[in-house]
Amino acid sequence: MIIVMKPNAAEQSVNSVLNTVKENGLRTHRASGETVTIIGVVGDKTKLDTSTILSMNEVEKIVNVTESYKLVNKKFHPAPTVIKLPYTTIGPDSFTVMAGPCAIESREQIHAAAKAVRDAGATMLRGGAFKPRTSPYSFQGLEEEGLKYIQEAARENAMDTICEVTSEYALELAVKYVDMVQIGARNMQNFELLKEVGRSGIPVMLKRGLSSTIDEWLNAAEYIMSYGNPNVALCERGIRTFETATRNTLDLSAVCVLKEKTHLPVIVDPSHATGVRAYVEPLSKAALITGADGIIVEVHPNPPCALSDGPQSLYFEQFDKLMKDLAPIADLTGRTLH
Ligand code: PEP
Ligand code: MN
Repeated sequence: MIIVMKPNAAEQSVNSVLNTVKENGLRTHRASGETVTIIGVVGDKTKLDTSTILSMNEVEKIVNVTESYKLVNKKFHPAPTVIKLPYTTIGPDSFTVMAGPCAIESREQIHAAAKAVRDAGATMLRGGAFKPRTSPYSFQGLEEEGLKYIQEAARENAMDTICEVTSEYALELAVKYVDMVQIGARNMQNFELLKEVGRSGIPVMLKRGLSSTIDEWLNAAEYIMSYGNPNVALCERGIRTFETATRNTLDLSAVCVLKEKTHLPVIVDPSHATGVRAYVEPLSKAALITGADGIIVEVHPNPPCALSDGPQSLYFEQFDKLMKDLAPIADLTGRTLH
């Protein structure tokens, strides 16, 4: 439930409501706007006598939140979440571009990719060091060696980094080297991993599960936030449908639904959504127009020789053109492209 205070309620009134709720064994989440403060209540609300709360000083009303997710709910936290990294601010005023290869394959490869995507205007470098491959015989990633390369390449090019973590072991290593971690589609409901990422506090991008509903996805994000980590972004990367012309089906309407339901930033991944490099440019533009806060795009120095996801990886020239095409659209939508 949410307790809405009267406009410009005194700090003392807000504090006594907060204390009363806590004394009843429930957790509070305060959000203060220009004039109105709202107090989100998390826990078993039958423990709370609502008539007592309603009779307290400067309490306007109580609103029931029917959704099972609370901390990620826009009703609890109306202002959009902004995630600040050294070179990137993910949030409503910017359009964040994360780019780089599917997997870190060598020092030379990630350095070349970093320079090319940085020159084109991206501020975040992606690259997997732990690859969740369908076959156990496919390239599995360079692990810690790869993390060292991506950190080095990002430092040289003044960029932030994002890398997927597939286990608690991977997370333990990744936090030492990268600015943001990614939880991949296959791990969206790996609840132990979600809890660990929650405890770590490191900025995280949570991808939508292969066949997950938006509700399940938001509940997965709730796990991370409820374990103490507010720096969560969501990533729509296509879902399984009957269509086979594309690798997955990009659910752009999810961006609209999420913007209504949550304050968390939304990133779109047109590379994994389609599996086809020719579709990345139009869908990146569509993502920006639809209100997404950024994109994550696979770019490789030599896509035909990529160890994973070559067919969906852009050539450097294609990425450069994409950034040039996005710039005027970002201007139109009032966002800074970086
Ligand atoms: C990736 O980003 O390389 C990846 C494996 O993505 P997803 O989890 O969306 O398949
Ligand atoms: Mn990939």
